[in-house]
Amino acid sequence: MDLGIAGKWALVCAASKGLGRGCAQALVNEGVNVVINARGADALKDTARQFKVMAAMWAAAAPGRVAPQVIAVAADITTEEGRAAVLNAEGGPGRNFDILVNNAGGPPPGDFRDWDREAWVKALDANMLTPIALIQTVIDGMAERGFGRIVNITSSSVKAPIDILGLSNGARSGLTGFVAGVARSSIAAQGVTINSILPGKFDTDRIAGTIAATAQKTGKSEADVRAAQQKQIPAGRYGTAEEFGAICAFLCSQQAAYITGQNILPDGGAYPGTY
Ligand code: NAP
Repeated sequence: MDLGIAGKWALVCAASKGLGRGCAQALVNEGVNVVINARGADALKDTARQFKVMAAMWAAAAPGRVAPQVIAVAADITTEEGRAAVLNAEGGPGRNFDILVNNAGGPPPGDFRDWDREAWVKALDANMLTPIALIQTVIDGMAERGFGRIVNITSSSVKAPIDILGLSNGARSGLTGFVAGVARSSIAAQGVTINSILPGKFDTDRIAGTIAATAQKTGKSEADVRAAQQKQIPAGRYGTAEEFGAICAFLCSQQAAYITGQNILPDGGAYPGTY
């Protein structure tokens, strides 16, 4: 299915690895120009190089196609300077993005008794205030041009909170409440949609890190920890970044114009409720 978004410009935050990368890759494979971002320059450069090969392949697959551009900006998206660097990227569209994929690293786990104001501000900055700042920056331009797609990568913990992830539960729920209102404001009639994707367990570096930590804590092997976790998921496995990216690309498509204000939960059936 042609998603009808070739030639659009997307900003995909935190996209050198994992779920952000999956989203950016799916968009490049639809002919979308991307500005991608991460803090670590080496992994980002490597990802951009691979995307440029995919962009050239997309263009070569049919006559008349122009290869989408891939622009990489090494910066911390949770800082004002980082966001300015992304928005002022040379060759990029400035603030005139058609698609915004909000993403950043998740806050650390822990005991709520230990979190001071600084820990909360950091979590809120990364997982609530940064997405809000970027939405504020791009949304009016999208509405004026009559097309916009905003996708927030949040977490299944928004729907089913995880006790040790209180910083994430709180910050991401704040973002979810905010976008629920904005998605239903006047921008809804101007071609702009806002949706969130709530990942369950996906096989990324982040999951590998939590598996290693659990293995160390429990004395079990990493393979045993993986197997035990996957047994808890009705699908019997983790999701892949490619599967996640495909959902994101669809939400950014012309076909998804009537889906807004939704929280999509790809988790292999792990959430046990009916609603
Ligand atoms: P990942 O594999 O560790 O990838 C994270 C990506 O974000 C990397 O490219 C990283 O690059 C970049 N990044 C992190 N902090 C950044 C910052 N401040 N500014 C710019 N780039 C930044 O993680 P993931 O699994 O894709 O997770 C993505 C998000 O989904 C996280 O918020 C995570 O908590 C959430 N999530 C994931 C899962 C899962 O199963 N994977 C489940 C629920 C929620 P640099 O480190 O070089 O900056």
